[in-house]
Amino acid sequence: MSAAAARPLAALLIAAALILSAVPARAVTLLRDADIEYALAELAAPVLRAAGLSPSQVGIIVVDDNSLNAFIIDTQNIFIHSGLILKLESPEALQAVIAHEAAHITNGHIARRLGNMRSARTAAALGAALAAATGVATGSGDALAGVMLGTQSAAMRNFLAHTRAEESSADISSIRTLVRAGIDPSGALEVQEIFRGQEALSARRQDPYMQTHPLTRDRLRALQGLVAAAGAKAADHPEADYWYARSRAKLSAFLRAPNWTLRRLDRAPSRDIALMSEAVARHRQSDLPRALKAIDAAIALRPRDPFLYDLKGEILLESRRAGPAIQVYSQARQLAPRNAQILAGLGRAQLAAGQYGAALKTLEEARGRDWRDSRVLRDLAVAYAKAGNAGMASEATAQRYALQGRLEDAGIHATRALGLLPRGSAPWRRAQDVLDAAQRAEKNR
Ligand SMILES: [Zn+2]
Repeated sequence: MSAAAARPLAALLIAAALILSAVPARAVTLLRDADIEYALAELAAPVLRAAGLSPSQVGIIVVDDNSLNAFIIDTQNIFIHSGLILKLESPEALQAVIAHEAAHITNGHIARRLGNMRSARTAAALGAALAAATGVATGSGDALAGVMLGTQSAAMRNFLAHTRAEESSADISSIRTLVRAGIDPSGALEVQEIFRGQEALSARRQDPYMQTHPLTRDRLRALQGLVAAAGAKAADHPEADYWYARSRAKLSAFLRAPNWTLRRLDRAPSRDIALMSEAVARHRQSDLPRALKAIDAAIALRPRDPFLYDLKGEILLESRRAGPAIQVYSQARQLAPRNAQILAGLGRAQLAAGQYGAALKTLEEARGRDWRDSRVLRDLAVAYAKAGNAGMASEATAQRYALQGRLEDAGIHATRALGLLPRGSAPWRRAQDVLDAAQRAEKNR
């Protein structure tokens, strides 16, 4: 891992420290799944392109939260709550949510907010923190820490909230974007309908989406006008329909009770999606034979689909079948060699099988492609410890705690790493960054 890659982390750490000292935080859990992220990227790509953004530079990230919300805190990530994805009922509605967030990015709303926050004396610390977190100040750009540290706090909620003027400009841009992409813009109305009637509720009873994107009767009326005027005839998008259905089915199978999922298998839009859902539900019931039967039948229908092998690997590994899991994850890797989460799964299986050398190589490759995955950092620490490299184990642990906002623990492990690693090496510098941030956090307390 290059030194350059360590820099955004340092920025994050500063942010973490400042936010922690400024507001009471509630941790936010990101829901990471290779399959779901691929599906959302497929849905987002035409929208982002039509908005003038690069699909490779804007990620769609799922927050594990039942409430309804979607928001941005920088120009590179659109966060959507799992609750909202499950609540929406068409790919066009989800694409309208993405188009709306993309409009907040392209119209500069987040940049303006960062500017305002930095100049506002009362929120100076928070503003600087968010600026650092989002890379506006540093130019490095990554923002997960800000999210991790809590979107539920009042300060964070203020930061995320858009003004009515911003809402109407985002509505106009997003309808244009959808039309340009050949997507039915009435999905935007479906989104707003969900929140209709919530204006009168107190903030505590509203969905958070109502606070990040204030809805008024005027706004809804204007949006209806825009959609009617667009009068666009949307093309069919069978691929988008498929990936939309699949991402919701997988989210639902993981989040809802297995029996709920099993009772509704015949409603799945395709046989492979039904089988995938069944595999997840059976696995969650610890019924390995039926889980394997279902996932194998799904793979028979889509033998070149890396994410079905990824799921099978996960099922095997969690059922303590590390050897077979390695085989299946290797097949997934052949089909999607650059996917960080598939690499992470393979590395985890190798670690479970006691293949520490192979696990280290695979997990470092996964970290190189996605350094924000705290599960990879935890597995790396175990693998380094097993391999007798206490310095690298401490460095990985320090980074993991830092990513989770636990800077005091991060500082302890960073100090340990600094005493063990070759002075000036890349991992030594990463540990030094963590320690600097931990000390800054201590000072701000
Ligand atoms: Zn908005």
